[in-house]
Amino acid sequence: MAQRVAVSDGANKKVSRVRVVVRLRPYMGTQDEKDEGSCVRGLDSKNLEIINWRNATETVKYSFDVFHGEQTTQQEVFLSVKPILPHILTGQNASVFAYGPTGAGKTHTMMGTLNQPGVIPRAVREVFKMVNAKNEDEGWVYSISMSYLEIYNEKVLDLLSPGSQDLPIREDKDKNILIPGLTHTTITSFSDFHKHFVPASLNRTTASTKINQRSSRSHAVLLLKVVRTQHAPPHRQQAGKLYLIDLAGSEDNRRTGNQGIRLKESGAINLSLFTLSKVVDSLNSSTVVRVPYRDSKLTRLLQDSLGGSAHSVMITNIAPEYKFYFDTFGALNFASKSKLIVNKPFICETVAVPALPVKRARDGQEAGRSAT
Ligand code: ADP
Ligand code: MG
Repeated sequence: MAQRVAVSDGANKKVSRVRVVVRLRPYMGTQDEKDEGSCVRGLDSKNLEIINWRNATETVKYSFDVFHGEQTTQQEVFLSVKPILPHILTGQNASVFAYGPTGAGKTHTMMGTLNQPGVIPRAVREVFKMVNAKNEDEGWVYSISMSYLEIYNEKVLDLLSPGSQDLPIREDKDKNILIPGLTHTTITSFSDFHKHFVPASLNRTTASTKINQRSSRSHAVLLLKVVRTQHAPPHRQQAGKLYLIDLAGSEDNRRTGNQGIRLKESGAINLSLFTLSKVVDSLNSSTVVRVPYRDSKLTRLLQDSLGGSAHSVMITNIAPEYKFYFDTFGALNFASKSKLIVNKPFICETVAVPALPVKRARDGQEAGRSAT
């Protein structure tokens, strides 16, 4: 069936859906005190299932645009983002964000390591590759710049200018969102990018160990801006923006027992994440609803780059261990409103045994619809 990529709102404007990709990271014994195995598993390239805690003989099945299983490589994840990149060379906006509980692989997905680079370095390389492949004869000159900021406690902080104060978010007459005072550094190559990005990321990591794992409580936002100007009069100019975002952890901080200052932080984080979930919901719903961009800093910043004519991908990271069970459930429910209860025992298939018959649903009630 063809994928619906855009829906119309009441005013007949095209509103882009947010593409939802789920990535399950590999099982890590160290994360699982009781060695209980996985509570979630992939079914195919779009579907996964998780044990139903209300009834362990059932699973809950979810469907996404793309499901990436435990063996997925960084390059494969990047391929689900790559198609949106050409748009930023023609004055359109795009955003990619990694969502999910702390420990589920957001930073691995976005940043990665030197040997396994993530979406950010791959996307930056690709943008340079596309710009360098442009033919001068087409008549445009390209320039690329980067900004890097953090949203922490509903404050916007410039990571390329450490020690700076909370920056305001404004909208110009053409409805472009901008942050006056934010550093925009022109970059001419990937190594140029690397030179600015690595120390700024390290600053953030160092601060995080001092202030209660700040990196899991703040949103790290990398902005890549591509401006192209026509050689000949009237020298038309187009600016495209790409936001690459490592979101704060989506775990429920009430349950993890945070108090005092951390509870205040949690409230602020929850405001941005909670608003993001409402925005994504509104964009992906087929009925006309107000999109509440203005209710948090994160969504206000993304207003011109999420929904509307912008192109967006949300990568929901999940972990297979039982310890993450409720956070995984929460993340999946955020990522997909459609789920199906399947009456089927969740069997860890580690030995070759003859296939067991699928347990039949009781008179088609509650779990009546089968997986097949
Ligand atoms: P988050 O940023 O969501 O808190 P991390 O990216 O820091 O999570 O991942 C938690 C741990 O799991 C890290 O040690 C990371 O290296 C590892 N990890 C995450 N995803 C993968 C993956 N796909 N393959 C291998 N290791 C992974
Ligand atoms: Mg992280």
